[in-house]
Amino acid sequence: MMTTIGLLASITVNVFLLGFIVFQLRKNRLITQRQKQPALRTPANLRTISCPSCSQQIKFTLPIEGNKARCRKCHAQFKLDIDEHRNVYVTEIKLPEEDHTIKSLADCYSILGLSADAIPMDIKTAYKKKISEYHPDRVEVLGIKIKQIAEEQTRQINAAYAMLQEHGML
Ligand SMILES: [Zn+2]
Repeated sequence: MMTTIGLLASITVNVFLLGFIVFQLRKNRLITQRQKQPALRTPANLRTISCPSCSQQIKFTLPIEGNKARCRKCHAQFKLDIDEHRNVYVTEIKLPEEDHTIKSLADCYSILGLSADAIPMDIKTAYKKKISEYHPDRVEVLGIKIKQIAEEQTRQINAAYAMLQEHGML
């Protein structure tokens, strides 16, 4: 009789201990899970890239639509590649197009390197000087890139001069 009671008591204690151990294990796992969560929640989807054009820090959250991003500072556009570890790489960059359109008389004076109070004589002199600086004969030997820039500059100088003429500034 005493043995049966002893056995039962022993089983009860054991079951209780086992329950306690399971409970402790579960509690530990919950704690571990809880500790892991903030790390997942924080910057898991947040990415920062440095603009390859102007070094501006660009922050965004994954996923990004079309894997495209744009620099707020210089307006360069990027195509991004995201690998299996969700690292982000810039694979393609489209630099912002410079706006070459002349919008005001102030732009004309600026293109010719003049201040707004320049007299007609100054304008004519500046025009001749600038045009000769970018003359094809001068830039021919400097390579295709410089030649293209010179052609664009010549277009600008002519456009500025024509606009000043139209407005009776010379
Ligand atoms: Zn930029």
